[in-house]
Amino acid sequence: MRHPPLIADEELRLRALAEYGFLDEPAEPGLSDVTQLAARMFGVPTAVVNLIDRNHVFFAASVGTDHIDPSLAGRDISFCAHAITEDSVMVVPDATLDPRFHDNPLVTGPASFRFYAGVPLRVASGQALGAFCIIDTRARSSFSEFDRQQLESLAKLVIDKLELRRLDIAGRVSQERFRNIAATSPDSIICTDAEGSITMWNAAAERMFGYAAGEAVGQKIDLIIPDHLRDEIYEDRLRVTAGGSSRLVGRTNDMLGLRKDGSLFPGELSLSMWREDGDLSFGAIIRDVTERRRNEDRLYHLAHHDQLTDLPNRGVLKQRVGEEIAGGQPVTLIIADLDGFKDINDTLGHDCGDAVLKEAARRLSGCVRPTDTVARVGSDEFALLLPGLADPMQAAAIAETAIKALTRPFVLDSHEIHMSAGAGIAIHPAHGESADELIGNADLALFQAKLDGRGTRTLFTRAMRSAAVARRTYDVEIRRAVENGELRLYYQPQVRLSDGVLVGAEALIRWLHPERGLVSPAAFLPALEGGLLAATVGDWVLETACTQAAAWRSRGAPAFRMGVNLFGAQFRADDLVAKVAAVLRDRHLSPDALELEITENIVLDQNDTVLGPLRALRDMGVGIAFDDYGTGYASLSLLKRFPITRLKIDQTFVRTMCESPADDAIIRAVLYLGESFGLDVIAEGIETEAQRAQLIKNGCTEGQGYLFGRPMAPEDFAAAFDLFKRQTRTAA
Ligand code: C2E
Ligand code: MG
Ligand code: MG
Repeated sequence: MRHPPLIADEELRLRALAEYGFLDEPAEPGLSDVTQLAARMFGVPTAVVNLIDRNHVFFAASVGTDHIDPSLAGRDISFCAHAITEDSVMVVPDATLDPRFHDNPLVTGPASFRFYAGVPLRVASGQALGAFCIIDTRARSSFSEFDRQQLESLAKLVIDKLELRRLDIAGRVSQERFRNIAATSPDSIICTDAEGSITMWNAAAERMFGYAAGEAVGQKIDLIIPDHLRDEIYEDRLRVTAGGSSRLVGRTNDMLGLRKDGSLFPGELSLSMWREDGDLSFGAIIRDVTERRRNEDRLYHLAHHDQLTDLPNRGVLKQRVGEEIAGGQPVTLIIADLDGFKDINDTLGHDCGDAVLKEAARRLSGCVRPTDTVARVGSDEFALLLPGLADPMQAAAIAETAIKALTRPFVLDSHEIHMSAGAGIAIHPAHGESADELIGNADLALFQAKLDGRGTRTLFTRAMRSAAVARRTYDVEIRRAVENGELRLYYQPQVRLSDGVLVGAEALIRWLHPERGLVSPAAFLPALEGGLLAATVGDWVLETACTQAAAWRSRGAPAFRMGVNLFGAQFRADDLVAKVAAVLRDRHLSPDALELEITENIVLDQNDTVLGPLRALRDMGVGIAFDDYGTGYASLSLLKRFPITRLKIDQTFVRTMCESPADDAIIRAVLYLGESFGLDVIAEGIETEAQRAQLIKNGCTEGQGYLFGRPMAPEDFAAAFDLFKRQTRTAA
């Protein structure tokens, strides 16, 4: 640990510090607003106005310091003691990596400082009394130039307040000193006698009010007090001269100052009172706070608005939702989000992304009434708060308008960018009693809208919440499974029924769970399909199965065909065709080596999204199998419209075909359908020789089932069908 550097004019600094009266009363309540604002603006737990005495430091104001052991107040371990030796902001992104602090007890102990940024509090005399700092227990990778400026603005507010305190204290201490300080003070210092006649008028008062000292001295103080405030001041003076106590003395009062030219300015007034040779005198310190108010307004705005779009942020949205709910009126909340925004950022750059967001904000603001709120609640997420609206149909119509507004092309320089959007809707009181609940449920509805496909708007339902709870537990586990390579592919043989010759395999996913062992897809696929990882896992299945197919094709099964089941999410991801093409190319696989299996659910859920890619895949020469055929409602027209090459007869019919003439008839009907449409047919779930014989009799040529082999690990599959000249393994 390194001790803080020494300060050349330390004695001067300590004398300056003494003028602020902190040795008698360390706390300054007027500063707690600033520390709170800082903590909120920077999202840190701790913000401190830290003053530095000869050997110790003390907090004039702080938030989030309860957990810091008060005995750790030595100057030698203080971060701020370093900061005051710097010219501007001192930033320590990660204290554990900083040679000055890594073994500091504030870092290694329970206080756990990691991130620190502090600005020296340099007062008018040039001395740094201490530092204004923010602290986090997590490291930060960056602190931008903009962040520095904000922190410096806040430190200026602190210095302003400190200055007021100094003058106030000086006034209380002695008349003589008061006059000395008055001469150089940047604040107006005005004294009056008990009757309110001005007896002293300093240089700053001349500048602030426009009267020279010669003009002002001898006049009534009313000179600088606007009409409507005169009575209050007059009454206060009367009260005091009559021996009562003042309402104005001893605290800071907001006031309006009246200039010689008649204009008004916001001021802050500290009044003191003393007896000089037995006569009562009043001293007023007046500060022009125009600049500070502007600064405060700006900081307030920054803490509550999104910088890029200037819309209210999530915090403000939450507050307003809470207010509307408290008002007892219905409220509709719509959360909309741009699809594929990340791609814009990645491919066209952040400037372009920023421009899209600004324009999106502008368009959404145009979709609502002036009494509604549009807020930016995430990187590409916006919220529309519609007080008084309770009708789901109307809410849906507004959500659709918003989606349409975001779907219009964005024209930027030479680019025309096409985006789509989804929206979730939640309505108080039906969908949430509190702001948090309503916002959370609108988010869930948005999540569902995204699953339902582009351009969708969805109203919250209770079922979404229970689904979310289940998803959350599974999501974490499945994510881990993907990251740790716990997923495996098993392969089930597909054979020619007449002689049992291997024609291909279907890849079937398994989860090798560290505690539960081999988990079958029925247990985790519903959660996976409802979560965010389906497309990722689907891509992995495709790649792994194709690698395996390429290996077996080169090792004794040249015409081998690999069946791969697809997830709906892979179609929604928009790049399925390109992915399949790349996978085939990279593995030198002929397209007919791959057969993609789709189910009726995929087709019916997203008719439009599926048809285009399927046609492209078919044109490429890839096989398309319709899985579990016969179990659903797949109509004949569907078979005509979709570019399907094979029907897979579902195992439920095969299982009972020998006993149930009805099921046998269905199988024959499917085979007949296949023949009429020119489609291949394969039967699933063949377990007995009787079933095989019956299928052959009906004209079925290919089959899959336990009779020929269960789904197997790749090495077992290779052994069973003599497919390894050398050991092959899939990359899991
Ligand atoms: P599916 O595509 O219809 O797969 C056939 C299922 O029937 C497999 O169950 C297989 O083990 C089982 N099976 C095969 N022959 C017989 C038999 O003779 N008797 C019996 N009783 N069952 C047999 P599995 O592996 O549990 O897979 C269930 C479903 O999970 C699959 O149905 C498929 O829809 C889905 N699935 C499996 N792997 C994947 C995958 O990688 N991606 C996608 N998207 N879905 C997958
Ligand atoms: Mg299948
Ligand atoms: Mg099937």
